[in-house]
Amino acid sequence: TASDRPDGSDRPEIVLVRGDITEQDADVIVNAANSSLLGGGGVDGAIHRKGGPAILDACRTLRAGHYGRGLPTGEAVATTAGNLAAQWVVHTVGPVHSAQEDRSEQLASCYRESLRVADALGAETVAFPAISTGIYGWPMDDGARIAVETVRASHPSSVREVRFVLYDAAAYAEFEAAL
Ligand code: ADP
Repeated sequence: TASDRPDGSDRPEIVLVRGDITEQDADVIVNAANSSLLGGGGVDGAIHRKGGPAILDACRTLRAGHYGRGLPTGEAVATTAGNLAAQWVVHTVGPVHSAQEDRSEQLASCYRESLRVADALGAETVAFPAISTGIYGWPMDDGARIAVETVRASHPSSVREVRFVLYDAAAYAEFEAAL
């Protein structure tokens, strides 16, 4: 693991960990969901597999209510974390990477909104995956830069640690460089 210096500022400490996000002992685990909220591959599949049916039930309830058309890209919403060690899963929908259109602001919004939701819940520790860098095709170096910049610009009141959980050595190296 690596971490930046907790320098007494009000910004959360950023910590890098290599591993599986479903194994993290954090108040909030962020899910790189898709807008259906009904499951998918990658992080999403792993969270639903390990978290059990309570998470999907909660997502179905959201779809039956406020999110009838699905969760829009760049927004975030919390559910139970089911059997995971976390207290909540915050689902956010990253943008699919495009060579034609700059969707960086949508990716930044995922980090910003997820942190806002986590902070409103009173979470102290939040674990993020590298949103959009898997199935959604975002280049890891740019995804890491946006993630770190956005968290650094945030001033949550309850969140004191933001942990980026990187699945492989290459992802870890890009986040280390961004930090
Ligand atoms: P997206 O659809 O937003 O691209 P993915 O889940 O496909 O989301 O991938 C996001 C990133 O998470 C990728 O870098 C992928 O390698 C990584 N990843 C996949 N499974 C896990 C996991 N269990 N824990 C942490 N990171 C994971």
